[in-house]
Amino acid sequence: MPWVCSEPSRRRRALLTPLLVIGALLVIAPAPALAQPQPHNRWRLGVFPVTGFLGYTSHYGSRLGPGGSVEPHAGLDIAAPLGSPIHSWWTGVVQEVINDGACGVGLVLRSGLYEHLYCHLAGTAGADLYRSGPVSLRRGQRVNGGQLIGHVGLSGRTSGPHLHWGVRYRGRWLDPARVLRAMAASRASKRLPPPRVGGSTSAPLQP
Ligand SMILES: [Zn+2]
Repeated sequence: MPWVCSEPSRRRRALLTPLLVIGALLVIAPAPALAQPQPHNRWRLGVFPVTGFLGYTSHYGSRLGPGGSVEPHAGLDIAAPLGSPIHSWWTGVVQEVINDGACGVGLVLRSGLYEHLYCHLAGTAGADLYRSGPVSLRRGQRVNGGQLIGHVGLSGRTSGPHLHWGVRYRGRWLDPARVLRAMAASRASKRLPPPRVGGSTSAPLQP
């Protein structure tokens, strides 16, 4: 059974609710082509966000929820051991520090027209400040691509340790798997090694 995961925040859930009336298929709108990414056209520089990858436990799109109803899932669930380091997909700025019942402890980073969301983190979040082990991030703080930004936890609506990773472009959710494929294809065309996974200095969070 896939680990349960839910929408990133109550606010976003509220935005999605009217669309559920129209139908789950319409909720997940077709993603814009990745041929004109902003702010860069250098996908090979993106960083896979989790160290300790164990597998994908829930894909992007519609799926059956715990009650048997169809529900949207606007992200990719990446399973990893508890405390695994999480790295920023791209250079950006901390736009939001989340602490709610769905996403749990989480972060939204903005990179140009992209927002990337990280949910179910370890650590604490409050007053626009996120802390986990050596990580301390405040809203408005700049982060580099690949920078350690947190650790895999069990916060929010989840039944197992994983990262819920979401990517939005101009406010519309993208399938993160498409982003990863574009990263890999870009690197292959340049004869570069596969996307790096995190940084060399990161270590699992010690309990
Ligand atoms: Zn999820």
